[in-house]
Amino acid sequence: PERSSALTVENLHVAYGRAVRALRGVSLDLPAGRITAVLGANGAGKSTLLRAVSGTLGLHRGAITAGTVAVDGRPLAEDAALAVRAGVVQVPEGRRVFADLTVEENLRAGELGRGRRGAATRREARERVFALLPVLAERRRQRAGLMSGGEQQMLAIGRALMADPRVLLLDEPSLGLAPRMVRQIGAIVQEINRQGTSVLLVEQNTAMALAVAHRALVLENGLVRLEGTAAELAAGDEVRRLYLGAA
Ligand code: ATP
Repeated sequence: PERSSALTVENLHVAYGRAVRALRGVSLDLPAGRITAVLGANGAGKSTLLRAVSGTLGLHRGAITAGTVAVDGRPLAEDAALAVRAGVVQVPEGRRVFADLTVEENLRAGELGRGRRGAATRREARERVFALLPVLAERRRQRAGLMSGGEQQMLAIGRALMADPRVLLLDEPSLGLAPRMVRQIGAIVQEINRQGTSVLLVEQNTAMALAVAHRALVLENGLVRLEGTAAELAAGDEVRRLYLGAA
């Protein structure tokens, strides 16, 4: 049977001012319980897509000129609070942990999520994060700014998980990390997904993204250039030539 959609984007157009048309009619489907990867070069529109979904275009409010974003069939109107309440949580590019706060304090900042929750639920969420990312338990009293890039990425992911997301948006989690750490992050993303969270994974590391995702699409100049199962894309000449470094 077909899976229902956790997240659907239909014919999305986003413009920064009059001159920059960052997305020009992008559609995608993230089936519930799956990982969909969004690939593409610098400037293709990947971050814009995530920000449109999470309602964090900020000063560019109104930049969505056409199209819809819906979670579980309910439309989200370019509104960050609505997105968070619907269970959409973004891990921003560049991690952006609070460097002067401890690991534990950073995690607490992630608890503001879906409405008010009791202490027991919060403790449960934290135990789940510590089980998935043991390094955060070991370093709970350390200042986040003293951790390695990979550990900070784990903290950014852990902080997002504290809100118990239904749809997790990841913006280039492998950026700047060594290959071993990239593989580890990939495995963590898969485990999060196995535990039931749908994931939209934006990556420039095509090999890692296609290894963990079920479906993928390639953005180019604000348009969907290619789309299919991760296996189809990994086997296709175009992706191999342009993004996987094959001859
Ligand atoms: P990167 O990997 O570099 O983040 P990307 O695929 O995420 O690239 P976007 O950041 O979404 O691409 O950018 C899409 C287009 O929109 C680019 O042409 C970019 O220059 C432009 N753009 C992005 N943010 C803004 C902004 N705040 N104001 C004006 N133009 C912008």
